[in-house]
Amino acid sequence: MNSPATLADAPAPSDLPSSFERLPLSPAMQVNLQRLGYLRMTAIQAASLPPALAGRDLIAQAKTGSGKTAAFALSLLTRLNPRRHAVQALVLCPTRELADQVAQEIRRLARGADNIKVLLLCGGSAMRPQISSLEHGAHVVVGTPGRIIDHLERASLDLRAVNTLVLDEADRMLDMGFFDDIAVVAQACPEERQTLLFSATFPEGIAALGRRFLRQPQRIELAERHEGGKIRQRFYEVADGQRLSAVSRLLDGYRPVSALAFCNTRNRCRELLQSLRAAGFVALALHGDMEQRERDQVLVQFANRSCSVLVATDVAARGLDIDQLEAVINVDVTPDPEVHLHRIGRTGRGERSGWALSLVGGKERGRARNIERAQGGEIEWCALGALPSGRGEPLLPPMVTLQILAGRKEKIRPGDVLGALTGEAGFDKEQIGKIRVAEFSTYVAVDRGIAAEALLRLSAGRIKGRQVKVALLSAAADAASPEQRAC
Ligand code: ADP
Ligand code: MG
Repeated sequence: MNSPATLADAPAPSDLPSSFERLPLSPAMQVNLQRLGYLRMTAIQAASLPPALAGRDLIAQAKTGSGKTAAFALSLLTRLNPRRHAVQALVLCPTRELADQVAQEIRRLARGADNIKVLLLCGGSAMRPQISSLEHGAHVVVGTPGRIIDHLERASLDLRAVNTLVLDEADRMLDMGFFDDIAVVAQACPEERQTLLFSATFPEGIAALGRRFLRQPQRIELAERHEGGKIRQRFYEVADGQRLSAVSRLLDGYRPVSALAFCNTRNRCRELLQSLRAAGFVALALHGDMEQRERDQVLVQFANRSCSVLVATDVAARGLDIDQLEAVINVDVTPDPEVHLHRIGRTGRGERSGWALSLVGGKERGRARNIERAQGGEIEWCALGALPSGRGEPLLPPMVTLQILAGRKEKIRPGDVLGALTGEAGFDKEQIGKIRVAEFSTYVAVDRGIAAEALLRLSAGRIKGRQVKVALLSAAADAASPEQRAC
């Protein structure tokens, strides 16, 4: 099966069935797709866009990273009337992070349309600014069910003009117990509407959702599993007392730029984080009771390559979508082979290959056998002793994150920050990594070697004509002690 990145590597002649040019999209939209480098449709897009653009309801299933967002976003965008100041499309997502990613993708795709306002409505942010944004008018709302219901109850959100309702990551919304909330939201939308349901898996509840909220939906199923070869799996037997040091050993041996380490329990996460920090790795952890702002900061640093290892449980990692991940490490083997598959599917996205490395204790051999059976092929066992030992260089992430204390509220755009760094401050574009503008802060990744200097020059200079406070996020501070550096 095709994946987005392999599809995108060469311009497609327009007569290919996978060319966007075959779709009834405006010329401006076509140009924008080209600009974004979307040259060919991914498999799920090719299967779902024609019926979606024709107005059909859909239940579409495809794995994570297959391009589902554009599959519904292009459809809802073509149906919008920019001159009508009312919410015409609503996308429900299970988590704030996913909603945020979807909103960003819709905004990028909407550059080919007139002035479309896309608003994110999620918990974890203050109500007041959301209410005032709603008063200013939005065409598309992306949000989590709980917060959308809050707005409905306060009558700050009117869904009576919605013509497209999207249930994204529907399987996860069901997992999280959102069925009743989805019902409340769907009831607030007109009955006469298009409903598009997207899901990575197809548990039983999805059919129930479909029966209840969709009208004669077309079912699209791309039963693709992870392609062989892209994700290389290796299993290592460990004695229980060695498990934590074995993770360091794997990191030293494989030297991934970014690795996600899954633990079965929160306790194990804590132990591992400590052990990695003590060994000098730049590691961060995600846990369930983190404040949203903290969680965002962790994710920003991991996604922009200024943190080598992210430690998490399955629950804490829910919704995490990192496009460049060299390795997934299963610190414990999960009892559920489906969960295992889901974990390792985080790496080896697009054209990239990735490592899936599992540590197996004596009592976990049965679990490894179940995984072997579920994936229908023999698993590869290796010995930790065969990894190169005694490293020369410590494994450090290539980037460091600077936090600028000004964000969307101050109307900062990524270009302003890039401009400040490459203009007056005199750095090369190549030395600057991802720039993420949040509500009150902007995070910019810079090459590790220029971090201190960039901090000084940004603090001394101006962004959008004003002086800004800049801080080095501590996970990235080079000179800090291992403890400080790691958190
Ligand atoms: P999913 O929702 O299925 O997990 P996403 O919609 O988040 O996947 O898309 C995964 C990545 O692929 C995104 O970075 C997106 O920008 C990119 N992408 C989507 N469609 C295309 C395409 N046709 N060509 C190139 N890249 C694409
Ligand atoms: Mg998605």
